[in-house]
Amino acid sequence: MVKPEILKKFTSILGPDRVKTAKEDLLTYSYDAFIAEYAPEAVIFPKTTPEVAEIMKIASANRVFVTPRGSGSGLSAAALAKEGGVMICFTMMNRILEINTANRYAVVEPGVIISEFQKELDKFNLFYPPDPGSATVATMGGAVMMNAGGMRGVKYGVTRDYLLGMEIVLPSGAVMNTGGVNAKDVTGYDLTRLLCGSEGTLALATKIIVRLLPKPKTKRTLQAIYSRIDDAGNTVAKIIEAGIIPATLELMDNQIVKALEDFMHLGFPLDAEAVLLIDVDGEPETVEKQAVLIAEFCKSQGARDVRVSQSEKENEQIWVARRSAFGAVARLRPNCLVEDATVPVSKLTEAIKKVIEVSKRNRVQIAVVAHAGDGNLHPLVLFDQRDKEELERVDKAIDEIVDYALSVGGTLSGEHGIGIAKSKYLTRQLSPTALEMMRAVKKTFDPQGILNPGSFLESAA
Ligand SMILES: Cc1cc2nc3c(=O)[nH]c(=O)nc-3n(C[C@H](O)[C@H](O)[C@H](O)COP(=O)(O)OP(=O)(O)OC[C@H]3O[C@@H](n4cnc5c(N)ncnc54)[C@H](O)[C@@H]3O)c2cc1C
Repeated sequence: MVKPEILKKFTSILGPDRVKTAKEDLLTYSYDAFIAEYAPEAVIFPKTTPEVAEIMKIASANRVFVTPRGSGSGLSAAALAKEGGVMICFTMMNRILEINTANRYAVVEPGVIISEFQKELDKFNLFYPPDPGSATVATMGGAVMMNAGGMRGVKYGVTRDYLLGMEIVLPSGAVMNTGGVNAKDVTGYDLTRLLCGSEGTLALATKIIVRLLPKPKTKRTLQAIYSRIDDAGNTVAKIIEAGIIPATLELMDNQIVKALEDFMHLGFPLDAEAVLLIDVDGEPETVEKQAVLIAEFCKSQGARDVRVSQSEKENEQIWVARRSAFGAVARLRPNCLVEDATVPVSKLTEAIKKVIEVSKRNRVQIAVVAHAGDGNLHPLVLFDQRDKEELERVDKAIDEIVDYALSVGGTLSGEHGIGIAKSKYLTRQLSPTALEMMRAVKKTFDPQGILNPGSFLESAA
């Protein structure tokens, strides 16, 4: 229980408008994009690093639990106040502090929305590639702490590949910097990378430094429709074998196609087992050649229809389908869980077929989108949480998908993180020694265990 005198101290630092305790406010912050629900006792909105440091000094002196949060778009319940306490929300720390064109880096506060940052960079012909499907709402801080990926991962990698450094506030309230603005820097342990993906359990990010790329000169989008999912899988393998690295390589299965048709009437044939969406970007000549080659691969592997965009506008039209996939599917049942098991790319088709088999056998509706180029499946599991019997079948199906992914050398999560949602599976992938090391790291940063308590390490089965 957060004592009233502590809340008074927070109010004296932030003012009454930035300390919320009303029941309806707390309810809004009691869930993210997963299905768990835990209400914090207060939600506070700092605007500066000294404010964050002051808050953490008070929290640590009084052993108050603190859960950091960006926009709450996470899919693994990593930003929930499982043990109560205070939620520290970074959405008001949202300034782009520097865009350095000479050295190609930028410094941002954690509450900056990813797509707004990307739009600003566009003005300088610069490019920050990580693009989670949630980029229009997710914050840079949340993305760093989840090491978010996205559709461009196949060519450009994930958040970690662009993170150069951070200013952080430790649970004790001490402020420190990690990394810096240099492209190369091997001074000491790489704490920046350790913190990236730490799910708000080690420290609070108050400034973020990322490296930037020049904006690709041109982009072409292809859409290929398949009667057989194996043919789509073989096309993916063929593209990768040929040494082409597309900017995006996404797959949607028949369930998604049907949901999209019902929702948006885009003209997909209802019997299509798979649709591939592919972007190539870079120098115009290379892009032209690659687009022609990929179109040939699609046809030779059995695609029944291949469309190659001819303009920026057409690129966008093709991508509307993929961007609407979650929305289209979420209409079908009261609840939708987005799974994130990831397998080696060569196992992609087998993995999708396994998910379809698990879905049928357990009588659980599962639609699949995949960042196919990097083996990252997103089975969208549809159900009604109020139906206990159905919930048991859902648990069993997810359990089987997790076990299958691990059995072929895959991982529990490619990009959505562990949070509360997947902590029960952690010991299936990590050895006791690995878990012990992680717990030791946590203890070093947060000896009192006040930051994001009850999250993935503590909840591990
Ligand atoms: C429709 C949809 C599509 C998505 N697509 C993708 C995708 O393609 N790829 C992908 O990787 N993810 C995706 N996600 C998941 C999610 O959007 C990302 O993980 C995103 O980076 C979370 O950002 P956020 O600001 O919402 O963070 P939150 O969910 O608020 O927080 C995420 C974690 O970061 C911690 N945190 C937040 N800010 C700070 C801070 N300043 N300091 C310390 N810790 C902090 C929180 O405690 C929590 O552990 C998707 C989600 C949705 C709903």
